[in-house]
Amino acid sequence: MNGIFDGLTTLLDSENIKALKTPCYVIDEKRLLHNAEVLSSVMSRTGCRILLAQKAFSNYDFYPLISGYISGTEASGLFEARLGKEEMPEGEVHVFCAAYRDDEIGEIISYADHIVFNSIYQLKKFGPSAKKAGRSVGLRINPECSTQEGHEIYDPCASGSRLGVTRSVWDEEMTPDAFELLDGIHFHTLCEQNSDALEITLKAVEEKFGDVLPSMKWLNMGGGHHITKADYDIKTLERVILYAKDKWGVEVYLEPGEAVALNAGYLMTRVLDIVENNGVKIAILDSSAACHMPDVIEMPYTPPLLNAASDGTKPYKYRLAGPTCLSGDVIGDYSFDNELKRGDMLIFGDMAIYTTVKNNTFNGMPLPDIYKLGTDGSVEKITDFGYSDFKHRLGRA
Ligand SMILES: *Cc1c(COP(=O)(O)O)cnc(C)c1O
Repeated sequence: MNGIFDGLTTLLDSENIKALKTPCYVIDEKRLLHNAEVLSSVMSRTGCRILLAQKAFSNYDFYPLISGYISGTEASGLFEARLGKEEMPEGEVHVFCAAYRDDEIGEIISYADHIVFNSIYQLKKFGPSAKKAGRSVGLRINPECSTQEGHEIYDPCASGSRLGVTRSVWDEEMTPDAFELLDGIHFHTLCEQNSDALEITLKAVEEKFGDVLPSMKWLNMGGGHHITKADYDIKTLERVILYAKDKWGVEVYLEPGEAVALNAGYLMTRVLDIVENNGVKIAILDSSAACHMPDVIEMPYTPPLLNAASDGTKPYKYRLAGPTCLSGDVIGDYSFDNELKRGDMLIFGDMAIYTTVKNNTFNGMPLPDIYKLGTDGSVEKITDFGYSDFKHRLGRA
């Protein structure tokens, strides 16, 4: 089950799908389960633990479905930690934040099994109360090993990064009592990468921090592992995990977001109008790149679209764009076998991750409703949004 639209193609002609009010996200349970099984098999072959990084996917109605396969959740701060505790209570809750606040740390500690600090200052400041509460304490390190090019905004090892303690800062600031607090080391340096990049990174971690790892109980290798992608090399991942376990006697954690819900969602949209400019045909959709798939602009990338090519190889070419006022609200240039018509439904793939957690109501755009595509092919609405979701972010309720 590796195709982006595998879960959907047999259902396309069903009235359930055709009747959907667009735009909406459809989350695919079958694909989520497939991903969870892949992750779970890595856990059982290596004894590592895998957490869902909620910043990529927090649609908690699906937590019961996947909680039996993974070890818990990872949070970026208070609200995600609380969500993980509330909605996947049987799992561990891990938190990393670039800087914790005095007025939140107590509540965060109440939810967190592991809490990871980003500086030795914060470790010294908050670590003792976390330990007193019986929590496992970690420090994020920066191995200064960039394995990606072109996406500096997704590279925590880029020069000048605020993320993780470099070895030279460690040597300057680490004290025996701060070191005493540490149960584990955390690094997160990858983004949509294969296991060869992890192997290179672990070498850098070993070179820079190999002396401290034998004193640790665990090593958290962060996220960015594209484990459920078809061409991912799982054997190398498992070799790297087992190497760390053997060499330093640590428990190994991975906290992928993307890999948990990869290809497990669709954004359904319809063509509102078609306009033309200098020979370019532009289809204006009822969904927006800026509002409903912000990574298309931020990353940037061209998302997969069912029955279309993104390389101009089909005869009918269109630029797909959103209805907002932003000139750059463009999803991408695609080509099709047939002419597009107003009212046609289009289906973008891989829309479960970094979408529902990141969308917005710029221009007063409605948030897309969210549906569940059940393993039995049923389509059920999970939540919907309207005017009040737009208005209440802006003023008095
Ligand atoms: C973003 C992030 C993750 C998840 O990354 P994915 O690319 O979605 O796998 C995990 N841990 C930390 C600390 C992160 O910042």
